[in-house]
Amino acid sequence: MDLAKRVSKIKPSPTLAIDAKAKQMKADGIDVVGFGAGEPDFDTPEHIKQAAIDALLGGMTKYTPVPGTLAAKDAIRAKLKRDQGLEYARDQIIVSCGAKHTLYNIFQVLVQEGDEVIIIAPYWVSYPPQVVLAGATPVIVETTEENDFVPVLEDLERAMTGRTRAIVINSPCNPTGAGYPRECLEEIAALAMDRGVFVISDEIYEKTIYGGFEFFSIAQAPGMQDHTVIVNGLSKSYSMTGWRIGYAAGPAPLIGAMTKVQSQSTSNPVSFCMPAVEAALNGPQDFVSEMVARFDERRRYILDRLCALEGVSCFTPKGAFYAFPNFSGLYGHSCRGKAIENSTDLADYFLEEARVALVPGVAFGADRFARLSYATGMENIEKGMDRIEKGILALDR
Ligand code: PMP
Ligand code: GLU
Repeated sequence: MDLAKRVSKIKPSPTLAIDAKAKQMKADGIDVVGFGAGEPDFDTPEHIKQAAIDALLGGMTKYTPVPGTLAAKDAIRAKLKRDQGLEYARDQIIVSCGAKHTLYNIFQVLVQEGDEVIIIAPYWVSYPPQVVLAGATPVIVETTEENDFVPVLEDLERAMTGRTRAIVINSPCNPTGAGYPRECLEEIAALAMDRGVFVISDEIYEKTIYGGFEFFSIAQAPGMQDHTVIVNGLSKSYSMTGWRIGYAAGPAPLIGAMTKVQSQSTSNPVSFCMPAVEAALNGPQDFVSEMVARFDERRRYILDRLCALEGVSCFTPKGAFYAFPNFSGLYGHSCRGKAIENSTDLADYFLEEARVALVPGVAFGADRFARLSYATGMENIEKGMDRIEKGILALDR
């Protein structure tokens, strides 16, 4: 069947594909350890569920305003004021069907053919395809393990051309766990303002931070609020991936354009999830710190195990819930005649021979690496790491 050309320019989300494959293998009775999914393994807190249940039972089952209810938007405004010290008017906020949808709307209204968008690699899987779907061109700027996966200002400067329309910042970063220091963000902010480049700041891992890392939004840098759109959501901080609630805060014309696109595509996000936005953002926050404390234990455990593997090194994540080890020391080795030459071979090998699902680094633009999500129980992590260790020992040397 003839389909629009733009569809052939993108692939399905590899993170979701690997997660689906591991889940299917489990359903088929195969004992797989899943490190693929980037979603917290905790249940959504009761008080948040109750807010949605009450709304549902109370008859909140109809369309709401396209960008979300006033109450949900006010809860987001209050959160941004409290946490970032930033004030936004109601017409500067939009709620969408997950942060992925928020980002999609942003690219649709901000960029077009001929525009370039700077994406820092290793990057989250959906940025480049979303830029391509909007007709623009992703320009990749690499970061390195040695530099804590933080971009070098000169590299960003070099990548900027007359066509650069925007840059995507994702700190804490999926997949590396990098956390950009405040000074670095202030430098990027100054450069962006100087060059007239708009910043898309994906802050979805704002709350999952470790070891004293202090989160700073680039929108907080002097003069930057008007040049930034903040993207955030409930998926990661409140363990609400299935609820599909994301939001953006930014200049009114941008939010207005996103609202127009949303009005012609999905309309409002689910009505009875709106009171859950208020419950999550303005309710008790102890769930978040307890969850992050569990993630931190797992982070330290998985890091120790990974660093103990021969031929493997791993950056210490400052945020998010992923380990991003460099497995390239294993490339060139083989098992029963099957050679591992890249991250795809590596992920296939671990899935087929060791029954462990991880995401090959190539999905994030970094083929020497693979991503393991530690948003899964400690028992699973221990079992999975034992299997990885055995899998590595089984390689011909
Ligand atoms: N940005 C990043 C960096 C992510 O890891 C995710 C997780 N899927 C998202 C955005 C989208 O989150 P959601 O659509 O579940 O709100
Ligand atoms: N953000 C998660 C991940 O990277 C969920 C998957 C996705 O939305 O692509 O695994």
